[in-house]
Order: sequence, then C-alpha cells, then structure tokens
Amino acid sequence: MEFTLDKGEARAVVVLKGQNISISCIGAGQLADLVFLGYHQGITLDRLRRFVLKCGDELFDSNEEGVLRVTSINSDADTNILYPGCRRKLYAEKFGKDKNGCRDLLASALGVPFPNLPSTINLFMDFELDCKDFSFKTRTSRVKEGDSVSFYVLKNCTVAISACPSEAGACKTEGKIEVKIQ
Ligand SMILES: [Zn+2]
Repeated sequence: MEFTLDKGEARAVVVLKGQNISISCIGAGQLADLVFLGYHQGITLDRLRRFVLKCGDELFDSNEEGVLRVTSINSDADTNILYPGCRRKLYAEKFGKDKNGCRDLLASALGVPFPNLPSTINLFMDFELDCKDFSFKTRTSRVKEGDSVSFYVLKNCTVAISACPSEAGACKTEGKIEVKIQ
C-alpha cells in the first residue's frame, strides 16, 4: 500500500506483524508525526533511556511490548519522542491561528477522542538541549527532500501518520509525506 499526505493531512492504517513502513519526504523536507494505538511514551523512554531514536530502537505499548522497530533513519534531522504533536490550542496560543494540529488530525484519522490520543513520534524534528537545566527547545529542522524513516512491525496495530500543518516558526516545512507499507 502506498499513499501521499499533503501538509495538514493524516491517515490511519492497520499494519500487520512482519510488514515494513517507510515514511519519506517528497518535494521538500516535511515534518511528520506518527502514532499507534496503545503507544506509551513513558515506557518507551524508560526502555530506551534516550529520546532521539536510533536504528534498532523499539517503540512500546502500554503492555510493555515492542510494536514498531526502527530499521533506518536517513536524515540529518532527529526523530525523537519528546513532543506530543502540535494541536489547536498551541496554534491559538502561540500564533493566534485557528487551525488543527497533528494531534487533532491523528485523533480524527484514528477515530479516537482527542484526549485519548497517545503522545507521538516526531519525525525529522530537531531541537536544542540545555543539559544544565534539563530543558529543550525546538529548532529549525534540517530535514530535506528524500529523507526517510522506516519501521518494522513487531505486533499488529493501527498506526496513523500526519504531515505537520505548521506554517510558522521552527516547524515550518513545505513538502509532502509519502508512506509505503509492504
Ligand atoms: Zn505537527
């Protein structure tokens, strides 16, 4: 299966154990968020003991079972598990805009109530870390056309992917997202 997401679009799909998911930027670099039903950010953080993903890392569900394994990251930009994904409230408060964020798009694609959406995996999203006070802030992504991240499916699940709608600030990117599942 293959599909393309324009900026501000999200789609959910059932994936089966043994399949591979490849997520690429086409046209230009483009931030994307990924989530699967049951994803648990805290358990994943505890198991990995870091928040920037590397090849071989697994993403865990609430039962502490690995669901997706990172098989490749082809990008100078980081793929991290720090942020929950952009959302209406963030756009309203930070930019005075009335628009859906990745969380709204992903919840809608998955058909789950907005408050029940897990945190997200932030593809190609760079940030700066201040190790002195353990803080972090977003910085302009180094993502470019052709960058990609791939996952191996360890357990049947429903995943959703969004092409981040951000048009301002450090998260402004202008490409499309291509998803291949096989
Ligand atoms: Zn977003």
